[in-house]
Amino acid sequence: PFDVLVIGGGPAGAAAAVYAARKGIRTGLAAERFGGQVLDTNSIENFISVKETDGPKLAGALEAHVREYEVDLMNRLRAQKLVPGPEGITVEFENGVSLVGKTVVLATGARWRDINVPGEAEYRTRGVAYCPHCDGPLFKGKNVAVIGGGNSGVEAAIDLAGVVEHVTLIEFLPELKADGVLVRKLYSLPNVTVVKNAQTTEILGDGSRVTGLTYADRASGTSHQVDVAGVFIQIGLVPVTDWLKDSGVELTRHGEIAVDARGQTSVPGVFAAGDATTSPYKQIVIAMGSGATAALSAFDHLIRSSAP
Ligand code: FAD
Repeated sequence: PFDVLVIGGGPAGAAAAVYAARKGIRTGLAAERFGGQVLDTNSIENFISVKETDGPKLAGALEAHVREYEVDLMNRLRAQKLVPGPEGITVEFENGVSLVGKTVVLATGARWRDINVPGEAEYRTRGVAYCPHCDGPLFKGKNVAVIGGGNSGVEAAIDLAGVVEHVTLIEFLPELKADGVLVRKLYSLPNVTVVKNAQTTEILGDGSRVTGLTYADRASGTSHQVDVAGVFIQIGLVPVTDWLKDSGVELTRHGEIAVDARGQTSVPGVFAAGDATTSPYKQIVIAMGSGATAALSAFDHLIRSSAP
């Protein structure tokens, strides 16, 4: 078995693998898509000591750094089950492979939350988008909608307003939940319309592309249509932890893996790091720090539990 088996290849998993391998212990890393959310990121300006970089560049650097060490790096492997046992912790993958770790670091990150209305799945990548940094320029000169009035939605609307013709921001609640400074900026823009207290009911299309959306005014119950070429869904991130159901690893009601300050989960020998956990503020430097913490805790667990 591996001494440390890392599941996930984003900043948290990469940091965990480097820290574990530097202890000279047998380290494996299995990821569905090495690089994680970083791959979907355009410009990164808050990765401390690097003034500016972009997602693919940072993901490439993460991989190169991991490959400097004796890490068994397995890309395109999707974990579907975790089974703790007396002989170690077994992780089963979708392709039928199983790997065993004396300790495991869970770092499966997060993904965009779906809104689950008709049209969303059908028009995904054909007008339904989640990443303004990635897809905003595709809608140059067109009208788009942003669903969600929290920080990510308002930031997306401000960002898109500089690129597209017009932005309609749709918020479910009677007020925008974003920080005041962002809301003031949003209202200062001439090509943004804000619709509050509105429930998006359907994303419309012509069979090949998005043509608009409908929403219900929650006060009056009336239905309205907005004609847009793109719909950016910005209603939050969900931790990628569904596969841990029934594993014994405690999740919060939001689906985050409950960890203590050392990255220890509720199952001995199982540690976790990054956006998949209860660690506040989902950021690259924070994910890396927690990955390092989890690996060092795993090492500590190994030296304390191995027979003399
Ligand atoms: P992730 O990066 O989500 O990586 C998760 C890893 O786990 C991936 O390799 C994935 O393939 C793998 N995985 C998932 N499920 C499974 C499974 N079942 N089996 C095997 N592997 C699995 N942060 C900043 O600090 N600065 C920024 O400028 C910034 N901009 C961002 C812009 C966008 C558009 C997005 C989406 C995020 C941005 N972030 C930014 C946040 C940052 O990307 C995340 O906080 C960080 O990537 C989290 O790292 P992680 O390793 O926990 O998870």
